[in-house]
Amino acid sequence: MAVTDHVDLNGFMEGVKKRNPHQPEFVQAVQEVAEDIFEFMQDKEEYHSQQILRRIAEPDRVVSFRVCWEDDAGNIRVQRGWRVQNNNAIGPYKGGIRFHPSVTESVLKFLAFEQTFKNALTGLPMGGGKGGSNFNPKGKSVREIMRFCQSFMTELYRHIGADIDVPAGDIGVGGREIGFMFGQYKRITNNFTGVLTGKGLEWGGSLIRTEATGYGAVYFLENMLATKGENLAGKTAVISGSGNVATHAAEKIVQLGGKVLTLSDSGGFIHDPDGITQDKIDWVKTHKTHRRGRIEEYVAEFPRASFHAGKTPWGVPCDMALPCATQNELLGEDAKTLVANGCRAVSEGANMPTDLDGVHIFKAAKILYAPGKASNAGGVAVSGLEMSQNSERRSWKEEELQQMLKDIMSGIHNSCIRYGDQGGGYIDYVKGANIAGFKKVADAMLAFGVV
Ligand code: GLU
Repeated sequence: MAVTDHVDLNGFMEGVKKRNPHQPEFVQAVQEVAEDIFEFMQDKEEYHSQQILRRIAEPDRVVSFRVCWEDDAGNIRVQRGWRVQNNNAIGPYKGGIRFHPSVTESVLKFLAFEQTFKNALTGLPMGGGKGGSNFNPKGKSVREIMRFCQSFMTELYRHIGADIDVPAGDIGVGGREIGFMFGQYKRITNNFTGVLTGKGLEWGGSLIRTEATGYGAVYFLENMLATKGENLAGKTAVISGSGNVATHAAEKIVQLGGKVLTLSDSGGFIHDPDGITQDKIDWVKTHKTHRRGRIEEYVAEFPRASFHAGKTPWGVPCDMALPCATQNELLGEDAKTLVANGCRAVSEGANMPTDLDGVHIFKAAKILYAPGKASNAGGVAVSGLEMSQNSERRSWKEEELQQMLKDIMSGIHNSCIRYGDQGGGYIDYVKGANIAGFKKVADAMLAFGVV
């Protein structure tokens, strides 16, 4: 007689905490999913007996390695690198690489876990992974960044491959870093293959990959508003971050007739009551990406704006909020403030930007609230399309890709409705995304037996 494990949610989470000590971000991500999945599994014996959630919450493997590099002054520096291959039930591991001093094994495990559900939601055949290092690119010269990327890839290359694991960018890793890493991969293996996404257009990259995460988060927002018969025209938006995701989200909001009031970085946020228009967004893009400047300098350029040092923008009254910076940047208190100020829709451009308290507050207020794994999936979706183009050895046209991105975001929205419609006009997008993502991966795992 098989022993079936029917621990309840609390028992399950106790086990997760015990097995992953000192990994709060990972435990948080699992908890947020488990809350919905336990309810969904209530009458589904097979998922229980086959321990599917327990298996998804145990990465297939975590590779940790030393990354040595020499700085411009000739000092030898040592960083730690990781690749977390969480689950490849529905396709090769896929997910970005993050270079930031806050990177730990816990952060990368949470990101790889989230990525597994997100990638399933896109409908494309991609498993979940994530990698990175505690390397801090801030203040480093381009040559130092190149040497670090090359050293990182000198170990990573043996764990990845176009049909094995396909990394991309994330915080601190953009087109430049992908170039350095792809160059090193090609040099070591003598293999020109679609092993990374987010590549330059001349060497296998896809059109609209850069814009996709931010645009996708706004398309998702549009889909959510449409369920209430509304659109973005005339609505105000508060956005955090000022990188690739934030600036492209801002751009799409402006294109659709909305008004963007804020952007931020780790130093604080800027509030522009006149609205951050396209010319101002272009200035921010150049300032942050090419000049590596701080958002604070926006106010010298556009004096009607104000800078709020050390603060997040959630206190600025708005119709819509888009956290596009990093994990746990929007806390319970911030969620309360947003709701009290009349914010009606939240679309996450970052991964897990809202902490668990905040998630519960948005859910209780029954506002339109999309978790990152649904609303920021546009980036990895176009990465998936980049993989298809690489396999075909062709490049698709911009209009085709734009349409595919829109269709994928609507498809994710439909999946959320399918599993998250609570009746009475309320859609629990967190629940919908968790269940739809889980079901696809879980059913593939059931087909493979105990592996
Ligand atoms: N880092 C992005 C994410 O969080 C993109 C990953 C990818 O394109 O593989 O989804």
